[in-house]
Amino acid sequence: MNERDSESIHSFLQASGFDMVDNETSADVIILNTCSVRELAELKALGKLGYLARRNIVLCVLGCMAKNLAEEIKKRVPGVDIILGPGDYSKIGDYIEDIISGRRTFIIDVDSPGAENNLDMDSMHNVTQRQSSAFVSIMSGCNMRCSYCIVPKTRGTERYRAMEDIILEINKLADNGIKEVTLLGQIVNRYGFRQIEQKDGKSAFVQLLEKIHEVPGIKRIRFTSPHPVGFHRDLIDCYKNLPKLCSQVHLPAQSGSNRILKAMRRAYNRDDFIKIVQALRDTVPSISVSTDLIVGFPGENDDDFSETCSLFDEARFDMAFIFKYSDRRGTVAASMPDQVPRDVKEYRNAVLLKKLATHSKAYNDKMLNTLQMVLVEGKARRGENIFQGRANNHRKVLFPGDDLDVGEFVDVRITSSAVTTLYGEKI
Ligand code: SAH
Ligand code: SF4
Repeated sequence: MNERDSESIHSFLQASGFDMVDNETSADVIILNTCSVRELAELKALGKLGYLARRNIVLCVLGCMAKNLAEEIKKRVPGVDIILGPGDYSKIGDYIEDIISGRRTFIIDVDSPGAENNLDMDSMHNVTQRQSSAFVSIMSGCNMRCSYCIVPKTRGTERYRAMEDIILEINKLADNGIKEVTLLGQIVNRYGFRQIEQKDGKSAFVQLLEKIHEVPGIKRIRFTSPHPVGFHRDLIDCYKNLPKLCSQVHLPAQSGSNRILKAMRRAYNRDDFIKIVQALRDTVPSISVSTDLIVGFPGENDDDFSETCSLFDEARFDMAFIFKYSDRRGTVAASMPDQVPRDVKEYRNAVLLKKLATHSKAYNDKMLNTLQMVLVEGKARRGENIFQGRANNHRKVLFPGDDLDVGEFVDVRITSSAVTTLYGEKI
């Protein structure tokens, strides 16, 4: 989501006449687009700000930390010129001009009422030549109140973009050579909730998927993140009915313990979760299933953690983001008793990472000798003439290729596999 936001910030600045430089040392203006989901992200950003504040530049802090820690940033880092919360980034060019011209010496804007209504500004893209994949924001904010999460505070309540605007944007992207879109939102399957009516038993999100499926240039559709609550039959059936929908799902579980799920205020239980995964596997047997898990939530004991481990095995996650619980001021969980010691979190994190490596390798091994259609992203970091791209299930595939492959689909036979990457030959 931040990557997508950075792209629109880039477009707004370009429209205001600014140019992007390719390294930080030659920049006159630096923007840190920040995240507040975990404390570590904030600490890193604060450290970086302190370092940059010594330079004579226009220094801007955008994103969730701007909203969450505005006063603290102002106090701790006097060199910051602009603090702008998530939402209406279209103002950034004017704000920078105000600082450069000396009209204003400091700008703080974290409660902008415009942000609520300015979702269409999201449609600004910066498609580069031979780029084949793009993120498309379909909603912003979140109405859930998961007890550990800062997002509803920093990003506000749910707002959905109009379906026709999203389709228009995707058509434009397709005209610019984009072949794959990834729809973004805190809970994409809540898209249009109580605002767009169900049609033939299909939710607004499913209706949106069907419409996107009709856009001629678009060959692949992905989305992140759906919530297990609201992952109904109509959405599962899309994996059968919409061939452009990729065989991949990112479904955050957070925990395998019903007790912890309840304390997290995630309104599903382990069984509900397993049933969704099973239904998805029944529909697409080779589907890649990834997740988010939090270890060390307050009160999580050894039994709870075993439940998470067994969920991992039962759901056979081949990819996972594993987070050590991080205390976020102002959330309900921050004041819960029985905070878990750091070393226990570390240990549980390591256990799950090991499990992940095993599952991921097993999943990759099953792809050996198969033929994969790979959408090529560019040169791989290492190896001469080695290129990398994504298979339909989003697995990274490396192969010897050439520059002309970039941005195109190529057929690759998988010849070997590692934990995170597959290797193959073009055929
Ligand atoms: N809306 C998405 C998640 C967005 S935040 C969803 O509900 O699935 C991305 C991930 O960060 C979450 O899934 C969660 O696993 C993690 N996360 C959020 N708050 C956290 C915290 N306080 N400590 C550790 N991880 C956290
Ligand atoms: Fe945070 Fe929960 Fe909303 Fe996801 S659903 S953004 S975890 S509050």
